[in-house]
Amino acid sequence: MDKLVERFYSYVKIDTQSNDESLSTPSEAKELDLTRKLLEDLKELGINGEIDEFGRLYAKVEGEKDLEPIGLNAHVDTALELSGKDVKPQLIENYDGGPIKLNEEYSMGPEQFPDLKRHVGEDLIVTSGDTLLGADDKAGLTIIMEALRYYKENPEKKHRTICILFTPDEEIGRGPEHFDAKKFGAEWAYTIDGAFPHIIETENFNASHAEITVKGFVVHPGEAKGKMVNAIHLAKEFDSLLNPAMRPEHTSGHDGFYHLNSIVGTSNETKLGYIIRNHDLKKLHEQEDAMYKAAAYLNLKYPKGRVEVKIRQDYRNMKEVFDKDPRAVEHAKKVYKELGIDAVFEPIRGGTDGATFSFLGCPTPNLGTGSYNHHGRYEYASVQEMKKMVEIVIGLTKAE
Ligand SMILES: [Zn+2]
Repeated sequence: MDKLVERFYSYVKIDTQSNDESLSTPSEAKELDLTRKLLEDLKELGINGEIDEFGRLYAKVEGEKDLEPIGLNAHVDTALELSGKDVKPQLIENYDGGPIKLNEEYSMGPEQFPDLKRHVGEDLIVTSGDTLLGADDKAGLTIIMEALRYYKENPEKKHRTICILFTPDEEIGRGPEHFDAKKFGAEWAYTIDGAFPHIIETENFNASHAEITVKGFVVHPGEAKGKMVNAIHLAKEFDSLLNPAMRPEHTSGHDGFYHLNSIVGTSNETKLGYIIRNHDLKKLHEQEDAMYKAAAYLNLKYPKGRVEVKIRQDYRNMKEVFDKDPRAVEHAKKVYKELGIDAVFEPIRGGTDGATFSFLGCPTPNLGTGSYNHHGRYEYASVQEMKKMVEIVIGLTKAE
């Protein structure tokens, strides 16, 4: 079997699903099963690593002293939406562009996933229909390990110092916790955790969330005329004052949104929960302002009711870090060009661990993995695209 495929299989067969209800670190001890295997696999390549008390694996491969070290990062855990236990990957050689039967119940084809058409003639790895694949992010781990194998087998190829960090708990937003920049040893890095090989992700949302508490004025409904303020209606009115075109279902690209994700309450008190997103921090603040203004308007209109807005910031767009320190982005641009790849910069409509690493002082764009449809049974990876990513990682780390 192909070495890359063999390695990928050995990683996806280990169940590493993280747990958002756990307070321990890592959130599930089983994540360490894969981290320990990676430590062994590194040893086989002659590389010494270390798993710290928080379950983070750090390793360093010394290279040319006159060039800046490059960091590479991927995560061992898998998503919560579907089980990652007993994954039985299936290899579809020389994909013909038709439907793929995963099991008796589930198939996938280009009608549901038009992007499959781009992979005609490639070898695809798919699930057996009842688990996710875990290519997110075991494809990333495989790509990094295969690039290291290349240097081991081609000792004459000079490279930069390569700093490795494999983290648990990315899927529950805790990957960058306990990040030790000194132990890592690189001033800039790449996360290998995206999809398309030609896309470099350097922008993510600025994010905050709002909790709106709406208090009514409740009297007996039989005697309510001219007196009652119903908190539920007041909450509905508050929501109607926010631009309905700025909902997730009507936005894409660089559009920001308000997403109402919970409404709980009675006529006496109702709470609304929103997440607020925009790539432009100034525009995010304008969205937040519009919420405060809507509340002020309603408080004037209904003096007996009360609308309170509480907003907290979650994460920020890493682009502002790259604007100040563009080394990682410029280096990637140069290498993709040398490899004849037309790099496309696409904003992520979500967050990424790279954003947190960037704000912790290590600018970290996110690169592709050649795998798609993450977090579900239709997840798949292209062997050729994973190999393309190995080539890109070698291009990024080689000394020339
Ligand atoms: Zn991921």
